[in-house]
Amino acid sequence: MEKLKVLFASAEAVPFAKTGGLADVAGSLPLALADLGADVRLIMPKYHSVKVEGDRTAMDKNVEVWFVENDDYFDRTHLYGDRYGDYADNLDRFSFFSRQVLERCLKENFKPDIIHCNDWHTALVPVYLNTLFKYDPFFSKTRTLFTIHNIAYQGLFAKEEFPKIGLDWALFHIHYFEFYGKVNLMKAGIVYSDAVSTVSPSYAKEILTPEYGCGLEGVLKTRADSLFGILNGIDYSTWNPATDKDIAKNYSVENLDDKYLNKEDLQKQLGLKVDADIPMIGMISRLADQKGMDIFARIIGDVLNKKVQLVMLGSGDQKYHVLLEKMARAHPRNASINLRFDMLPAGKIYAASDIFLIPSRYEPCGLNQMIGFKYGAIPVARKTGGLKDTIHEFDPKTRKGSGFLFVDYKPEALLDAINKALATYQRRELWRALVKNVMELDFSWKVSAREYIRLYQKIVKRPPLP
Ligand code: ADP
Repeated sequence: MEKLKVLFASAEAVPFAKTGGLADVAGSLPLALADLGADVRLIMPKYHSVKVEGDRTAMDKNVEVWFVENDDYFDRTHLYGDRYGDYADNLDRFSFFSRQVLERCLKENFKPDIIHCNDWHTALVPVYLNTLFKYDPFFSKTRTLFTIHNIAYQGLFAKEEFPKIGLDWALFHIHYFEFYGKVNLMKAGIVYSDAVSTVSPSYAKEILTPEYGCGLEGVLKTRADSLFGILNGIDYSTWNPATDKDIAKNYSVENLDDKYLNKEDLQKQLGLKVDADIPMIGMISRLADQKGMDIFARIIGDVLNKKVQLVMLGSGDQKYHVLLEKMARAHPRNASINLRFDMLPAGKIYAASDIFLIPSRYEPCGLNQMIGFKYGAIPVARKTGGLKDTIHEFDPKTRKGSGFLFVDYKPEALLDAINKALATYQRRELWRALVKNVMELDFSWKVSAREYIRLYQKIVKRPPLP
């Protein structure tokens, strides 16, 4: 049988450029697909951070990476905007990129069976394929999958910018791009893709409701028979305490005591009290309301008044930078707040932490809990989206489960869950059992990549969209 040809289009991918989980997925799922026998290419913009000569490079497993070059658009330090806000030319940049995804296939004579698009930056690929390239025989067998990693970021632009896309004004219509008087790229991507997916089964259901759909629930309902939820995986060649080069002492479930050497090492490095018995709470997050920062802000003082240490790594909204800096000053002995992206290697925090906070208002999939599991850091998380699909409440009687969940999006509910985790931490035998449970969980890409292949195979059999 011929290999399934897949072009994976993403605005970011590890190790070339990263602002969030999309980069982790784009840097690892293509490799897992190649492992299963697919013929995969990854395409992304060539930003300033891409230190590669020319317009391509090879990743592992024969996955070739194609870079779209345009220095005016992409040779910038940031991906989507700077501290003054989103770049004013984002629509020019990403419509250019999306069009180049198709042009590049022609240039390379690579006829994809599937173009797997991700988030609003690549939402125009299925649109162009079904408009500008609709009658191009080169693409007659090409089908598209559009994956939503976060429905809150839709690629919204003023109506006046519509001509930049290069399509007929007739498409500025409620059935395609028009969204409350604005241009909405994600909406058009949903309409024009052969299938739509998102990154967990629960989030796939949630986004059909007004609470989570961010206004796109209506259009998603029209595609409900083509909407799928496939959980992200993580790449254990990157996230593994047994091999992580950034941590002081490698460990695994067989030599768990060594985990605590990492805690002491980080305590020393950050000027916290060196004591392996103090529970360390870690948090690595974009500082945004989505991530539960507003409810966490309300209880952070209560948490820091306990015998705990808090280590945070995060960047985002200015209001949280200000608040967290204030907290760090007030609690210098038990809080270390690091407010720049990648200021510390994330692995060091996962390795040192006992508890990991993920109080998200919504969470499409969430990678922190999966990475945390591998490092033996127990999640305290809100029961939503991918967190709900991957974390099970720990039951001290049966010793089964993998974390502590709360349901109501309220500061008190979060504090209760933290207290429950801290109480369990004091029962050392029990805690050890819990840590062992989570370290033995398997969230590698194997299972999910297989699901994607099955989905691709289903889509390629479909006739083209009318
Ligand atoms: P999202 O993509 O919504 O931000 P995910 O949980 O899917 O959330 O993925 C976030 C990824 O970004 C994880 O790999 C996390 O460790 C990483 N991350 C988040 N904030 C930072 C930061 N300040 N520095 C380094 N890595 C970060």
